[in-house]
Amino acid sequence: MSDTSHQAMLAKYAEAVVNVGLNIRAGQRLIIRGALPQFAPLTREIAKSAYKAGAKYVEILFADEEMTRIRIQHAPADSFDEFPVWQVQGMLNLIEEGDAAMLSIAGANPDLLNGLDIEIIGKMQQAQLKNWKPIGEKISSNAVNWCVIAAAGEAWAQKVFPDLPLEEAQAKLWQAIFETTRIDRPDPVAAWNEHIVALHERAARMQAKQYSALHYAAPGTDFTVGLPQGHLWISAQSVAQNGVTFTANMPTEEVFTLPDRFRADGVISATFPLSYGGSLIEDFQIRFENGQITKVSAKKGEAVLEKLIATDEGSRRLGEIALVPASSPIAKRGHLFYNTLFDENASCHIAIGRAYRFTLEGGDALNDEEFTAAGGNVSLNHVDFMVGSPQMDIDGIAADGTREPVMRGGEWAF
Ligand code: ZN
Ligand code: ZN
Repeated sequence: MSDTSHQAMLAKYAEAVVNVGLNIRAGQRLIIRGALPQFAPLTREIAKSAYKAGAKYVEILFADEEMTRIRIQHAPADSFDEFPVWQVQGMLNLIEEGDAAMLSIAGANPDLLNGLDIEIIGKMQQAQLKNWKPIGEKISSNAVNWCVIAAAGEAWAQKVFPDLPLEEAQAKLWQAIFETTRIDRPDPVAAWNEHIVALHERAARMQAKQYSALHYAAPGTDFTVGLPQGHLWISAQSVAQNGVTFTANMPTEEVFTLPDRFRADGVISATFPLSYGGSLIEDFQIRFENGQITKVSAKKGEAVLEKLIATDEGSRRLGEIALVPASSPIAKRGHLFYNTLFDENASCHIAIGRAYRFTLEGGDALNDEEFTAAGGNVSLNHVDFMVGSPQMDIDGIAADGTREPVMRGGEWAF
């Protein structure tokens, strides 16, 4: 791939991110976070597109992931509750005092924290979750238009394509990103609009069914999850509280809703490894009773999983269930991405922890107590893990107990 053609693809990508993902409107300030220094060629294109769309100001918070390793290895043992609170306050200022949009770029090294002290990592994650809470809440209530996209980081590309030399691996990962985000199409924005309509129709059909619960059956899985009164099936597009219609994930293939925090029973097995905070959790199973996790087991990373669910009460319960056919364009690529933005769009998934207010009718107006009483979940965490496969059957269970197929062999049954 020549540099010029790659740069031209980055420009097309940036345009779609700004116009479909964020749908930046004139006068907005854009905050870009999570960008590695190596993503500068992309972030500069995004800034250009954002200004072209009328953005007033673009702020980029670069993150050098090597600094995290350096800190864990060299900082004093009692220093890990230290957190750059100014970043959170700065973002809150932009959100509360003006018209802001938030972009997050995934593409970090999935193995970044491999071999480092798990106690220290746990402490850092606690500090991160605690201090990040005000921003997490803004996002989970769609206070602003926001979007998560990916960029082909070097270490990530090598993890996905370990047999290729770095440059080829990175080119191949960029190609996967461009294809799954429709940037390879002649008119990516038009292709996105078509895709958004198709997903919306799927969500509308699930909404019309008003199921009371779903039952999942697959090897290692026999699991029933309740859907509370007023649950809303959501797909690609949402309207933020600031009035902007946006697409939160690129790529996206899912339709998702709110599970009832009090009704989840049985065992569910993960079908993909979970890359969580720089560690991989593999081959794991989770048992639920009355909505609560009662047991976890994992071939690899069990201690990390135990720590995750011990974060707070809500980390033992579910906050999202999402349906994705096993034939999704991302699944069809036939390999793992070790990155939730991609892997969750290759498979049905569920999330431990915080639920999205907008998946419950009137959820935005409820306080935490009211939201949890209605079946919603509140937690510092929101961690998606993949459970779908071509062996997965899902039934919809109506309020009167009658059942009908929703998915068969991993595909939509209607
Ligand atoms: Zn999801
Ligand atoms: Zn999720």
